[in-house]
Amino acid sequence: MAQSHVLLIHTGGTLGMAPTGDPTSLAPGPSLDRVLEEVPELRQLASLKLVVAFNRDSAGNEPEDILDLARLIRAQAATCDGVVLVHGTDTMAFTATLLGFLLADLGKPVVLTGSQRPLAYIRSDARSNLVDAVTLATKGIPEIGVCFGDHWYRGVATHKLSVHRYEAFESPNLPPLAELGLHVQVHPHAGRFDRNVPPGLGGAFESALAVYAPFPGMPWALPPDGTRGVLLEAYGAGNLPMGRPDLQALFAHCRARDIPLVISSQCPWGWVDLDTYELGALAVEAGAIGAGRQTRWAAIAKMGLVLGAGGSIAEVREALSTSWAGEPV
Ligand code: ASP
Repeated sequence: MAQSHVLLIHTGGTLGMAPTGDPTSLAPGPSLDRVLEEVPELRQLASLKLVVAFNRDSAGNEPEDILDLARLIRAQAATCDGVVLVHGTDTMAFTATLLGFLLADLGKPVVLTGSQRPLAYIRSDARSNLVDAVTLATKGIPEIGVCFGDHWYRGVATHKLSVHRYEAFESPNLPPLAELGLHVQVHPHAGRFDRNVPPGLGGAFESALAVYAPFPGMPWALPPDGTRGVLLEAYGAGNLPMGRPDLQALFAHCRARDIPLVISSQCPWGWVDLDTYELGALAVEAGAIGAGRQTRWAAIAKMGLVLGAGGSIAEVREALSTSWAGEPV
C-alpha cells in the first residue's frame, strides 16, 4: 500500500526545547529540523514533509498566528493526507479550538501534539506522542484534535488539565476520539459531527475581551474602555453574587453598550445551567448568555471570531447555543 503523506508543522513548545542560561531554563531550541533523524520510526508510518511555521513558547502565540496557521493548513491540504501540528501545551487547547472551528470542513485529520519533556530528554513523552500523532494523521478521519498521553481528543472540547502529568489534556464533556494503547482504538463518534460554522469567519479575531475569574468578595470592576465582549468564569452551574451592586453595574454597563456577557464555569466537568438556581435566572434576566457545556476556550474563540467578523450580540448568542464543530453545547 502507498505510504500516506503527512505534513508536519512545527510551531514550538517544550517538545523541541533545549536547556539554556544559568540558572537553566527551557527555551525554543533549533526547531525540529532534525526530528526525522531523532525519531526515524516516523518514516515507517508516513512520508513526511516538515514546515517550521514559527518556533516559540506557545504562551507567546497571538490569535493572528493561529489564523495564519489555519490559512497555511488550508493552502497545503491538497498536498497531504493529514497534518501533524507540533505545539506547546500551554495554549494548545485554544489553538485546537480555533482550528477546530476554522477547519471544520477540511475533511482531513489535523493532529495537534507536543510534550511535557523535550524530545532530547530521557523519559520524554515526545517520541510516543509524535508517533501516535503521525499514526492518527494517516487514518483519514476528518477531525481536528489533540493527541496527548495515549488519547486523541476533539480539539474544540479540549482543556489542559495538568502541568506535570503525561496525560495533560482531556475533553471533559466529550469522550476521547481514540485511545492509543496496544491497539489504536478509534471510537465511533470520531469524524462524525455536524458542521455549522457560519461563513466568513477567520479574517480577524477580536481580542478585546475581558475575562473575570470570581472569588468570594472580589470587587467587580467595569471592563476597560474598548472591551467588546465579557466572559465571567462563574461558580459551578453558572452562579454569581447577583445581589452585589458592583456586579449589577457591570451587567448594566454591558447591556447599555451591546457587549455580550457570557457565563462559563470554573469547573471543567459538567456544564452551565442558568435555570438551576435563582442566581442563574437573575443573570439571564440581566442579559447573560450561558456557555453550557462549552469550554472557556470555545466561548472565547466564538466571541473572538464572531466579533472579529463584525458580528452582533445576537450572533454571539446564536454561536453559543449552536454546536459549530462537534463541541458539546
Ligand atoms: N511553555 C510550553 C509551551 O506551551 C509548555 C509546553 O510545551 O509543554 O510552549
